[in-house]
Amino acid sequence: MTFTTLGLSEPLLRAVAATGYTQPTPIQSKAIPAVLAGADIMAAAQTGTGKTAGFTLPMLQRLAALPQQKQPAVRALLLTPTRELAAQVHASIRTYGKFLTLRSTVVFGGVNINPQIKELRAGVDILVATPGRLLDLVQQRAVRLDSVNILVLDEADRMLDMGFIHDLKRIMSLLPRQRQTLMFSATFSPEIRALARNVTNNPQEIDVAPRNSTLDTISQMIFPVAKDGKASLLSHLIRTRNWYQALVFSRTKHGADKLVKRLERDNIQAAAIHSNKSQSQRTRTLENFKKNRIQILVATDIAARGLDIHQLSHVINFDLPHVPEDYIHRIGRTGRAGASGQAISLVSPDENKQLQSIERLIKRRIEREAIPEFA
Ligand code: AMP
Repeated sequence: MTFTTLGLSEPLLRAVAATGYTQPTPIQSKAIPAVLAGADIMAAAQTGTGKTAGFTLPMLQRLAALPQQKQPAVRALLLTPTRELAAQVHASIRTYGKFLTLRSTVVFGGVNINPQIKELRAGVDILVATPGRLLDLVQQRAVRLDSVNILVLDEADRMLDMGFIHDLKRIMSLLPRQRQTLMFSATFSPEIRALARNVTNNPQEIDVAPRNSTLDTISQMIFPVAKDGKASLLSHLIRTRNWYQALVFSRTKHGADKLVKRLERDNIQAAAIHSNKSQSQRTRTLENFKKNRIQILVATDIAARGLDIHQLSHVINFDLPHVPEDYIHRIGRTGRAGASGQAISLVSPDENKQLQSIERLIKRRIEREAIPEFA
């Protein structure tokens, strides 16, 4: 299968060729023709499957086929749970749309609203937004949503987890009923299915990764350790196993900051990313990490959601998440788009219950490796 046989037009094929992708991923093979045909879709796809291009490419093609507007009004709205994901989705729109003349922008909270108002008033065809900031902008009459033809909900499960349901309902009430809706979610809970019934119309269901199971390209490992030995074990493992560019999950912001200090004391370049950091700090940290100026990135679940980091070889659970599904989200940061990855969890005896729930969810037992000095 090639991108050409999926029905993409020349400007999009050229953009895809420029990225170097040679073959569509499974989600792309299924979603692209369906979206081009005008269907609503509800797709179970984790990060790393190539889903962003799966909705961006056909969306751009459909928008480009519409008559040009003199004063652009928002015709495609893409909602994401986090700022980072919004920025990444927008970057994809820029990448794939570079041979088209569609105008796009991205808006999210935590930064000055005035430049966003100005840009929206000038007119855009495509808007990527987080729900809260979008509603602020609607309230300030900076943007209208009554011309939206295509709605994309990315990581819908996470939007619900983060409490965006009321914001979503308000946004839906402002959109035309006649539209195409594309909904993506890593997992399909009853709540997600209920949302899908409300926002989509007879959606085509697309399921590429088996639901609630982890990607097969990720090898998983547990290191049993006493609670207060976790930081030294981590330091030890990073040094002795040459882990490079690892993303470490911490359940709390405080824990993330503490761990960074500890790693720095051991001469390991580390930085934290969480919601107490300003948007510009987070962007800078991510940049430094991608450019290998930081070896270890410590993040909380919400901040890490949607981070698109190429070739992340290691994801480390410094603490296990309370919600077992978060384990799948976390380790989905590695082993993306076919590259192999390792997911490592440091598990103390008080976390046994969480570990059991995780193993039940992924339907497999994770291998243990005890390091004598630490176990
Ligand atoms: P996503 O699941 O959308 O976050 O994409 C995961 C990663 O896969 C991103 O880094 C993309 O750049 C990359 N990617 C997307 N489509 C392809 C493809 N057809 N071939 C190779 N890599 C891809």
